[in-house]
Amino acid sequence: MNSMQGTSSLSDDRLFPPEPATREIARRLYSEVRSLPILSPHGHTDAAWFARNEPFADPASLLIAPDHYLFRMLHSQGIPLESVGIRPVDGAPFESSSRAIWRVLAQHWHLFRGTPTRMWLEHALAEVFGIRERLGPTSADRIHDQICDCLARPEFLPRALFEKFNIEVLATTESPLDSLAHHLALRKSTWRGRVITTFRPDAVVDPEREDFATNVTNLATLTGEDTRSWSGYLRALQVRRRYFASLGATATDHGHPSAATFDLNRSECEALFQKALSGDASPSEAEQFRGQLLTEMAAMSIEDGLVMQIHPGAWRNHDPRVLARFGRDKGADIPTRTEYVHALKPLLDRFGDDARLTLIVFTLDESTYSRELAPMAGHYPALKLGPAWWFFDSPEGIRNYRERTTETAGFYNTVGFNDDTRAFLSIPARHDVARRIDCAFLAQWVAEHRLAEDEAVDIAIDLSYRLAKRAYKLETP
Ligand SMILES: [Zn+2]
Repeated sequence: MNSMQGTSSLSDDRLFPPEPATREIARRLYSEVRSLPILSPHGHTDAAWFARNEPFADPASLLIAPDHYLFRMLHSQGIPLESVGIRPVDGAPFESSSRAIWRVLAQHWHLFRGTPTRMWLEHALAEVFGIRERLGPTSADRIHDQICDCLARPEFLPRALFEKFNIEVLATTESPLDSLAHHLALRKSTWRGRVITTFRPDAVVDPEREDFATNVTNLATLTGEDTRSWSGYLRALQVRRRYFASLGATATDHGHPSAATFDLNRSECEALFQKALSGDASPSEAEQFRGQLLTEMAAMSIEDGLVMQIHPGAWRNHDPRVLARFGRDKGADIPTRTEYVHALKPLLDRFGDDARLTLIVFTLDESTYSRELAPMAGHYPALKLGPAWWFFDSPEGIRNYRERTTETAGFYNTVGFNDDTRAFLSIPARHDVARRIDCAFLAQWVAEHRLAEDEAVDIAIDLSYRLAKRAYKLETP
């Protein structure tokens, strides 16, 4: 009988090369990085968990509700989202029992074979809750009960898990309209965990959002600036950036449909802004407005030191029926083809050679790694290449990323790993997968005599820890 049968997929050698000599090198490299602290400079966990430190309610709300990777796979197989606890916007009934939701996932767990989602969840079940039994219809209730027992205990409170996970810094993401009350509470608390915010201005820079004009008015209320003029609007953004930085933010993040940037003159900006406010901007004017804002944000970053991240190329809420029935962010996001060489040029023409700026660019279009992004990051001092993101935060995605970028951009124009997750318990698993794949990649190069092993150790530590610390300016304040 296979020793794996009936148990989860967590071999100590998972993701390492099968060839024995290379595997030995990978094991040695991994032993140098496995216990390094986690730096999580970009993600979407809820600061309230750590500010309030209340017990997580139940297995479904902890492990299923924040994980849109789960929803999309179940939806793709015709399983109604109501059955896993997603609330329809029209008030129609939906499943709210954690046990019933958990059973639906267990019943369909085989769908996740071969996906990183399976590896992350099995890692969390094993490492956090001590569960080695494979999830399935017959084990569902036992596993649910075991998680419930754990969640009632003090060592499973949010802050205790943060410490157990050896997280050194965890960044959340908030809108400029957020009061940052939870971050304020964290600052005032005696707890030593470092949870910082990130300035994510999409809600106040995207004229295609229905609430754009209202949001810009609210920005005025929050800052005391007159946001009816272009210059007042920019000043208000600067004020909010400074407020975020005062509560620990070291970065901004921009989730745009494309990587387009513009560098228009002042009167063009003013005219575009007035059109955007009145709701009259055409789609191409809206694109120009967002792109101009990226250039403005780069200028502000040079002043206030915030690191800038661009996450372009997701067609969010692609499925109109899911959007109408359940609202935004329910796993219906699809990558689009994304162009960078022309798109980023206006911004790079102004700031590309300015080493005071750190602009970290991500992609959902893998074809751009070797053709566009690695050559650009391998030239411009301001530009760094973000890690394999979202659909490519996976063993194959991370391997592809290294294979397609390293020879042109090197390792040192990259910035370590981002987990970019709402699913708190998946954080250690995601960092572990990245560390394993990077060690496997480096082991292969050591075996090919392209790197000495002592250099590979140094690089492995850089990729797991030091690069993120430097790029995101996470030295202890
Ligand atoms: Zn993100």
